[in-house]
Amino acid sequence: MSGASVKVAVRVRPFNSRETGKDSKCIIQMQGNSTIILNPKAPKEPAKTFSFDYSYWSHTSPDDPSFASQDRVYNDIGKEMLAHAFEGYNVCIFAYGQTGAGKSYTMMGREGQEGIIPMVCYNQVTQKHIYYYMEIYCERVRDLLNPKNKGNLRVREHPLLGPYVEDLSKLAVTSYTDIADLMDAGNKARTVAATNMNETSSRSHAVFTIVFTQKKHDNETDLSTEKVSKISLVDLAGSERADSTGAKGTRLKEGANINKSLTTLGKVISALAESKKKKKTDFIPYRDSVLTWLLRENLGGNSRTAMVAALSPADINYDETLSTLRYADRAK
Ligand code: ADP
Repeated sequence: MSGASVKVAVRVRPFNSRETGKDSKCIIQMQGNSTIILNPKAPKEPAKTFSFDYSYWSHTSPDDPSFASQDRVYNDIGKEMLAHAFEGYNVCIFAYGQTGAGKSYTMMGREGQEGIIPMVCYNQVTQKHIYYYMEIYCERVRDLLNPKNKGNLRVREHPLLGPYVEDLSKLAVTSYTDIADLMDAGNKARTVAATNMNETSSRSHAVFTIVFTQKKHDNETDLSTEKVSKISLVDLAGSERADSTGAKGTRLKEGANINKSLTTLGKVISALAESKKKKKTDFIPYRDSVLTWLLRENLGGNSRTAMVAALSPADINYDETLSTLRYADRAK
């Protein structure tokens, strides 16, 4: 049966210069695990309150006790998910939110403020695991570890192991430096595509996968066993609606595809949560998007999932922020 319900965290980032330049007001408050949002267009309207497993406040100074550093986010979420992987579960952590809200900061981070992906890698490089890094753009899969592998890759289904990407490069590395180099190259491949194709990076989902193998040897019986679990760490495409960006033509089509996979992801997670409550398996629409199809083994079945919803603190982003909070609320 499906695992525990999804662990959900929301994280508000500090104001950016655009927001400060426009003299934006902060419309988010956090109290314990609750996130409160005020509607700047209707100040008399009661504030809306949402409860999550974690509400991370990084809008104030690091001296504030509620300030959520990269370490805190890793300690709360990354460590728990890594522990589940050691227990043999497939795990998935994904970051959701509008472009610029802090998804990449949470998943990748920057030098000296490493995010969940480098921290997870750093804390489990004891054995030879296998790494994959790919991008899903407009329902097509691209290899980020081998950008020369330019074509779109085929998604197939293995009778025992489930859906997989054919010909995706896999790397087996044993040092953290190797992994760091690999991620750098992958992220550059994403950025290159971004300048050529209108900021593709914010319009594609980046999926970093670790196939995690634990070998155990029982001296008494002289038998060796192997436990394999898959860790998928996903930086989702920006959740902003295509119609709100005035997109036309290709951009509008891109937007429709992004919305389709994000909507499907939301539906899959709610359907899994419902099935668990009712103790019977409903139909789960994994096949409705490439993203959910490839994450099937990480979302349902023997798995544990966590989501970080990234938020802007500013009044000018009210509509998108509220829609992110609602999405996160449905995932619980
Ligand atoms: P996204 O991936 O959602 O498009 P980014 O992660 O690139 O957004 O964040 C946009 C900017 O805000 C970046 O410059 C990033 O470093 C900064 N930022 C995001 N979240 C935080 C945070 N919690 N603390 C400090 N800076 C942040």
